[in-house]
Amino acid sequence: MVSTPNGTGTVDPEMSPAAMAVLADRYLRRDDNGRVCESVGQMMDRVAGFVAQAEDAYRAHEADRWAARFSRLLRSREFLPNSPTLMNAGTGSPVLSGCFVLPIEDSLDSIFTTLRTTALLHQAGAGTGFSFAHLRPRDDRVCSTGARASGPVSFIGLYDAATQVIRLGGRRRGASMAVLDVHHPDIREFVTAKSDPAALPTFNLSVGVTDEFMLAAVADRPHPLINPRTGRVVREISARGLLETIVAEAWRTGEPGLLFLDAINRANPLPALGALEATNPCGEVPLAPNESCNLGSLALPRFLSGDRIDEQRLGRAVRVAVRFLDDVIDVADYPAPELAAAAHATRKIGLGIMGLADTLAALGLPYDSEAAVRFTQRLMYRISRWAHAASRALAAERGAFPRYSGSVWAPLPGGPMRNAQVTSVAPTGTISLLAGTSAGIEPLFALAYTRHILGREFDQVEPLFERLATERGIWTPALAAEIAATGTADHPGVPADLRRRFVTALEMEPYWHIRMQAAVQRHTDAAVAKTVNLPETAAVGQVHDVFHQAWRAGCKGTTVYRSGSRRDQVLRPPPPG
Ligand code: ADP
Repeated sequence: MVSTPNGTGTVDPEMSPAAMAVLADRYLRRDDNGRVCESVGQMMDRVAGFVAQAEDAYRAHEADRWAARFSRLLRSREFLPNSPTLMNAGTGSPVLSGCFVLPIEDSLDSIFTTLRTTALLHQAGAGTGFSFAHLRPRDDRVCSTGARASGPVSFIGLYDAATQVIRLGGRRRGASMAVLDVHHPDIREFVTAKSDPAALPTFNLSVGVTDEFMLAAVADRPHPLINPRTGRVVREISARGLLETIVAEAWRTGEPGLLFLDAINRANPLPALGALEATNPCGEVPLAPNESCNLGSLALPRFLSGDRIDEQRLGRAVRVAVRFLDDVIDVADYPAPELAAAAHATRKIGLGIMGLADTLAALGLPYDSEAAVRFTQRLMYRISRWAHAASRALAAERGAFPRYSGSVWAPLPGGPMRNAQVTSVAPTGTISLLAGTSAGIEPLFALAYTRHILGREFDQVEPLFERLATERGIWTPALAAEIAATGTADHPGVPADLRRRFVTALEMEPYWHIRMQAAVQRHTDAAVAKTVNLPETAAVGQVHDVFHQAWRAGCKGTTVYRSGSRRDQVLRPPPPG
């Protein structure tokens, strides 16, 4: 272990300076004097050793063997678990899951009980999602006092304020998703709740829409608003008008997104436990109230072998990763007993992928091409098959998840499942930085950009592009400067095939973002985190088209982000020119 002179951490030659800064600031352990006291490798060993303790409960003296296997996998960075697992495992902080969905019922007791749980989860770095649809609307009667209710949006404000306060003590800013069903009488207030870009900074907002609502918007039919307290229709509004307002807000501010509740519930593994109404903050995990999910992602570029994916190695990594994530459920602790019970009842995990764009570029497949979509769909199909097989193998060893018999999985010819949900594709905002890959399934954002992390700036150039351009003898200081200025390979000095394979998010038709999301969704149990990036010049109608395309393509949700429409962008494109 090598300590840097300024005490900001330890140096790992495999990690980028940006990754090291994040690790040293938030992930690596510190001693009593606040000095970083573990290396990156030691962090991996800590996590692997802690998680492998679960093994001993199933078979004596297995923990060491699995600790070594988990550690090899993590050190290779072929797979990384979500941030809370990396930060907290073995440190005494018990929360290891990336995300939770919590219940909010129509009572102050429920609202404040869940607020307490939320605070504890945020303190540990986990994200939370809620449906606020059960709260009575603003100005509705509060029977016990004769007063008027303040409505869901006011309580979202309460949660946001609490989260901002917790941030002061926590290691990362808390993040939440608020979902409101499109039938709620306060839906318009919700849709415009983030009109002021400074409002509700810790929340993402999503409108939970139904197929019926989308069809009503297409046909320009009226849409009923229903008071959740009475179950009565309070008035009808224009479905199209409401969708237009949602589109206009999303165009202006990036929010709200849409959740397609019918698509989500068609894939609900446990319909008997009730409908799914909410997701975690970035939308990739629909969950029932009190459920949680341990996410982890495979770094696809690490499985490249020449001009193909080494499927044997990938299949092996999938098996070990599924076991790792299942073990996390057992070694985690939960700040409320109902969270532990829900986690153990369905044992949902979320194995996903990161570095897709890097992988496609390496294979010479332009992201916005049929070939890339086909390749990705097939790859996700294989990963999903391996992951399900791994979950079945675990069930044979350890038993099915307790709710198996009431689930859509039962009876399964290949035997029961250990996990009600196995796959999910996360944004991998931080862990892709640690793995040194592009994020999740997003296209390359830019070939050169400045990352703003912890108040510092890190300049980055897409390494594969630099390498290929060097190999072809076109990498000159002039080209480097041009790419730094525009972020794209769209220059006369760059051969057409290189330009195509390094196509960036804003250069492609939004349609391809949806195609890719839908292709991955097809073989993902939970959902897929994806933001459709649009250029600043995008028309409002393009957002409308994206929403309709995502719905028709069978996506479970959709989010757009138009360049420059929000201030707190982490990845900022370089200024043009
Ligand atoms: P990471 O790369 O840090 O593991 P991701 O970007 O993949 O995290 O996000 C996965 C999930 O983790 C999100 O959907 C959300 O539930 C949770 N999450 C992400 N960022 C935060 C945050 N700042 N605070 C709390 N939870 C977060």
